[in-house]
Amino acid sequence: MKTVDIVVPCYNEEEVLPEFVRVTNEVIATLPEYSFRYILVDDGSRDNTLLTMIKLAEKFENVKYISFSRNFGKESAMYAGLEHTTADYVFVMDADLQHPPAMFPQMLQEVENGHDCCALYREQRKGENIIRRGFSKLFFRLQNTTKVKMPYGAVDYRVMTRQMIDSILSVGEVQRFSKGIFCWVGFDTKWLPYKDVERTIGTSSWSFWGLFKYALDGMTSFSVTPLRFITLMGIIMFLLFLLCTVGIIIEAIVKGFGSGFATIMCAMLFIGAMLELSIGILGEYLGRVYIETKKRPIYLVKTANIEKVEK
Ligand code: UDP
Ligand code: MG
Repeated sequence: MKTVDIVVPCYNEEEVLPEFVRVTNEVIATLPEYSFRYILVDDGSRDNTLLTMIKLAEKFENVKYISFSRNFGKESAMYAGLEHTTADYVFVMDADLQHPPAMFPQMLQEVENGHDCCALYREQRKGENIIRRGFSKLFFRLQNTTKVKMPYGAVDYRVMTRQMIDSILSVGEVQRFSKGIFCWVGFDTKWLPYKDVERTIGTSSWSFWGLFKYALDGMTSFSVTPLRFITLMGIIMFLLFLLCTVGIIIEAIVKGFGSGFATIMCAMLFIGAMLELSIGILGEYLGRVYIETKKRPIYLVKTANIEKVEK
């Protein structure tokens, strides 16, 4: 019998977790040819998520949990979950039932058909405002200029083979942008659309600022184009400078020197803005190099009912 692990990062999900396991168990019951196991990761929740997990583990023996010493973020929670998997196939999904477990049979069918991974993208997101959707579109457009390409609306709901999971775990960076890493490792991914549903229980823990930082992580993790952009800007500005100099010399010969205050002001502001932007881009990369060189652990476990598999 093939084994399947379901990795679920959870942050303040005490309300939804029992319902999540109930709904998922119903789907699992229709797939007797697989042996399923839950790996719930409590990402330092401030409510009774851990207690809920312990109760679920008492009720169902296939429920395993890992609880962090503090909130390390969804990326770390996913990584911790993956590190603890041993199954042939591994699902990654959210706890809030926005990722419908009803897709399991279809997704498993795709990997059985020979794909290394089956991932989902959102068809439409109701109740999302235009500005947020605009930024979301921009995020995917910019992201697709880097080496890792993904369809618009790609979410962290997927099933992967053991081989692909091991490859993902071999990517050693501390600041993990999983959406990108999942694509970067290659392999053959089948993308399926799904209809997004509103979160019915609990609240989304992503702020606009949080999403902005996430987008920056995505860009800087997989592309150095912004750094090249600085060089390109320098070249363009140098050419502009040459052009202006020639113009000014000609003007001085023809008309004599004028005051030129406005011209100088504009040029100074332009150069100032470009310098600030360039230093900012450098800073984004430098900051990430700084964090990465410290090689701190990606997460710290406080309690768990599952041991990490040493490879
Ligand atoms: N999550 C987490 N750590 C965090 C924030 C979120 O493990 O610091 C989990 C959360 O419990 C959920 C998933 O990540 O299972 C997605 O979070 P959320 O529903 O808040 O995000 P959205 O669906 O709005 O993208
Ligand atoms: Mg959600």
